[in-house]
Amino acid sequence: MSARILVVDDIDSNVRLLQAKLTAEYYEVLTASDGPTALAIAASERPDIVLLDVMMPGMDGFAVCRRLKDDPETRHVPVVLVTALDGRADRVAGLEAGADDFLTKPIDDVMLLARVRSLTRLKSVIDELRDREASGRRMGVIAGAASRLGGSGGRILIVDDNERQAKRVSDELAVEHRPIVETDPAKALLTARGPVDLVIVNIGAKTFDGLRFAAQLRSDEQTRKLPILAVADIDERQKAIKALEIGVNDLLARPIDPGELAARVRTQIRRKRYTDYLRANLDHSLELAVTDQLTGLHNRRYMSGQLEALMRRASVDGMPVSLLVIDIDHFKKVNDSFGHDVGDEVLREFAVRLASNVRAIDLPVRHGGEEFVVVMPDTDLEDARRIAERIRLHVAGAPFGVMGGEQMLGVTISIGVATSCGAEDTPTALMKRADEAVYEAKSRGRNRVFVRAA
Ligand code: GH3
Ligand code: MG
Ligand code: MG
Repeated sequence: MSARILVVDDIDSNVRLLQAKLTAEYYEVLTASDGPTALAIAASERPDIVLLDVMMPGMDGFAVCRRLKDDPETRHVPVVLVTALDGRADRVAGLEAGADDFLTKPIDDVMLLARVRSLTRLKSVIDELRDREASGRRMGVIAGAASRLGGSGGRILIVDDNERQAKRVSDELAVEHRPIVETDPAKALLTARGPVDLVIVNIGAKTFDGLRFAAQLRSDEQTRKLPILAVADIDERQKAIKALEIGVNDLLARPIDPGELAARVRTQIRRKRYTDYLRANLDHSLELAVTDQLTGLHNRRYMSGQLEALMRRASVDGMPVSLLVIDIDHFKKVNDSFGHDVGDEVLREFAVRLASNVRAIDLPVRHGGEEFVVVMPDTDLEDARRIAERIRLHVAGAPFGVMGGEQMLGVTISIGVATSCGAEDTPTALMKRADEAVYEAKSRGRNRVFVRAA
């Protein structure tokens, strides 16, 4: 997975070195040599990760980091602080400033790439949640609320067979969290399925394989999203890298520094709450924002997002996307003769017939009023026409029972069909062609399908 990385360092040769390493791995690299420039680039270029030198004249790395994390627009971008080798105090200060990670100078290539890979993965998860959320609600509200989410009071599962070390970590964390120690990995897996915010695992454990344990957490549906902090000896580099590859969120070097422990734990918990928060909002807004209340079909807003994504994909892999626009014929007469409630019944019954006559991959949508749309991925014009014809027959073929079956109503529909054409085609243009087609079907007498050639 590629990503755009902003490298910030006041020393030009440092910038060039990192740039060369990252470019060789096919990352896109942006550079800045001071804080204010870095902030401007972060705002305008939207990097996926920022690699930030701590020691810079004027605005230092901590200040830049704090500014990035204060701004709702850049808060979610992972920041990696680059510190001096013995900069333990720097690291703690950096994590307090909101940094997501740090690297020490001189930078170890393998660690650099492992960190970048794991942060890219995290960023893409958060981006996806944010995208989906943004279509439901304004991001500002979310980010504002999320910024108040704290990183304390977490339920932390410590998995370690070294009882002395486990106790020390547990005592340290008990000041602001609720730690549980587990020395047996099988029991720990069960505990992790309960209410836990973070797992700390010793990957240098003697009596069990800590890496396997982390992998098991990642493969279990109930625990796969749990943040994991791995404790590793400084000289167990290969294991540490392996841990990041498995999907461990962060590393803590042994001997454990209490300040660093506290800061890293707080960062992980805060981040988990942020993603939980986005997910919860998403689930909620899915109900409200993307579903049509009358028919239970998806609504127009949901469709736009899906159609856009499908057409973007279509322009890459060349698979066509087809669209049906369906309009009920003389629907106004139903309202006028039987009342609005009966009109609603017809709409609901139509939605059922529509949904049961499209394929599982198709997306039936109430576009508004008595107009419906079906989005059909990987479908050419001829197949779309055939499905449209099937829908038309299932509507015209049997009357609709309304008013508790007291009244039978004949209903017909007109359908316009269009399909995507080429890389320059847009959702708006496709929608317009399908609209023109349905208009044509109406003017040719209704109760028919009209296909608009691309
Ligand atoms: P045509 O064949 O040309 O499509 O004629 P039509 O009467 O179906 O089209 P027109 O656009 O003139 O009227 C659509 C009617 O649908 C008008 C509007 O009051 C009604 N309508 C829109 N939304 C709803 C709804 O949610 N419930 C009910 N009962 N009626 C609705
Ligand atoms: Mg209409
Ligand atoms: Mg109509």
